[in-house]
Amino acid sequence: MIKTKLKIRKYGDPCLRKKSESVKKIGPAERMLIDAMLNTILDKETEIGLAAPQIGINKKIFIVDLPEFPRVFVDPKILKKEGQTTMEEGCLSFPGFSFEVKRPKRIVVEYLNEQNKKCRIECEDFLARVILHETDHLNGVLIVDYVSEEERMQNQKALDALAEKTKKELKINS
Ligand SMILES: [Zn+2]
Repeated sequence: MIKTKLKIRKYGDPCLRKKSESVKKIGPAERMLIDAMLNTILDKETEIGLAAPQIGINKKIFIVDLPEFPRVFVDPKILKKEGQTTMEEGCLSFPGFSFEVKRPKRIVVEYLNEQNKKCRIECEDFLARVILHETDHLNGVLIVDYVSEEERMQNQKALDALAEKTKKELKINS
């Protein structure tokens, strides 16, 4: 079997800012997409989650690679948020960056799993953070949207440079 590895879209790519389409049922096309996403991150130790917009597909699907945790989340809906925590967060679309991000501590999320079964889980701390980070991607929201004014100023040049590089690459490839 051919293992497809997909190119990760970086900050500056317009697809990261688009709101993704809902997926009501996983069909053959979605299955292929999920397989390719899993192949893209599963053997990398540092990579925990990947959302479809990060590979240029604006569909509400993300995957998580954590032991004993569901892997595929389709059409997730955050039903409940409680509390607040702040943690450093990184993102595959922001190589080399990490930002302090304030998020709810505990959530309830409803989603479709890879068997098209509606599921609901409650999670907190790190797991909640991963789910919220990936769900943000499906709505065009990125970790830079949470940074303080000070942190933004410190990183603005580097962020602009990344966006510039991404746009240049897109022009070359298209
Ligand atoms: Zn991310």
